[in-house]
Amino acid sequence: MNPDKVKELLFSAGYPKWRCEQTEKAVYSGGFSSFSQIKVLPSEIRELLDSKLAVLSFEPVKVFSSQKGDSHKAALKLKDKRIIETALLYRDLRRWSVCLSTQAGCPVRCSFCYSGKEGLKRNLSWEEIADQALFWKSYLKDNNLGEIQSVVYMGMGEPFLNYENTAASIKVINDKLGIGKRHISISTCGHIPGIRRFAKDFPQINLAISLHSARNEERDKLVPMNVRYPLEQLSKAVRDYIDSAKRKVFIEYIMIAGLNDKSSDAGKLAEWIKNTHENKYFTVNLIAYNETGKSYKASPVEKMQNFQKLLLIRGIEATIRKSLGSEIKGACGQLALEK
Ligand code: SAH
Repeated sequence: MNPDKVKELLFSAGYPKWRCEQTEKAVYSGGFSSFSQIKVLPSEIRELLDSKLAVLSFEPVKVFSSQKGDSHKAALKLKDKRIIETALLYRDLRRWSVCLSTQAGCPVRCSFCYSGKEGLKRNLSWEEIADQALFWKSYLKDNNLGEIQSVVYMGMGEPFLNYENTAASIKVINDKLGIGKRHISISTCGHIPGIRRFAKDFPQINLAISLHSARNEERDKLVPMNVRYPLEQLSKAVRDYIDSAKRKVFIEYIMIAGLNDKSSDAGKLAEWIKNTHENKYFTVNLIAYNETGKSYKASPVEKMQNFQKLLLIRGIEATIRKSLGSEIKGACGQLALEK
């Protein structure tokens, strides 16, 4: 929902401001798929709103759920008929993490990722981004599953290539959906102008960098954005971010067998971190590679554990992240423009 359009419509029909606030509050509390269901509003307002506007800026087509029920993926049909995906992942104690897409497709074309396989179709509007979180809020409410604990911008697309809409959606998710800033995380493949802007605009929001390799030759191939913004420049941008935001950065590192999982790769990563800032400002998340139909294979568990150990003995916090959602193709790098 776009609250500005609600205001415009209700004002022009002569309704007072508090009716807009009432509508907004009801919608963002979740559980409504049309205005007609908001019984606190008089029927003529409900009819007017339904005749011109929609609660959600897309039409949910289907929800896929894992057997255990700990991960869900929704296919959403946009106004222009394109279908994007968003995910809901279980954390603990009936609390969930929502994973948002910022673009239909992605222009970055990381070699291991499915989301960018067909390139970029278009940027999502801030309404389309924020509504994904609203959709899941309603889903949790309708199915009595609990509530949203955190929001991660780790779905389809590169958020910093759609900066304005991403930024506007963060504001809605924080102000209207009530998700605390420290529970919102943005992940970038290393778009430096975006990182610099973000440091100024959102110092309290978590930043994750999809690094995947600390060698330029290799990272150029894995994450083509590296050609434009190589590791030395990225290191400087991350250092400046830490100095200004005074916050920890999360390094995402997917582990691909025989490619970036050697002991020397861990050494390289530790060196990149050391050259960037003090170890205490970093957490490395080692992520098992999810198969996406490429020739890559996931690293064996022992390799991941060894890699983790090599970081830990150098004093770098490192966790192995179990990826939820692969069973429904809703894990990292698997969200795509479904047909
Ligand atoms: N474009 C942003 C936001 C997407 S986040 C970024 O790159 O950070 C999605 C995360 O999933 C990124 O860290 C991405 O590198 C990772 N990813 C992509 N494909 C994957 C795969 N096949 N297996 C595991 N992680 C993958």
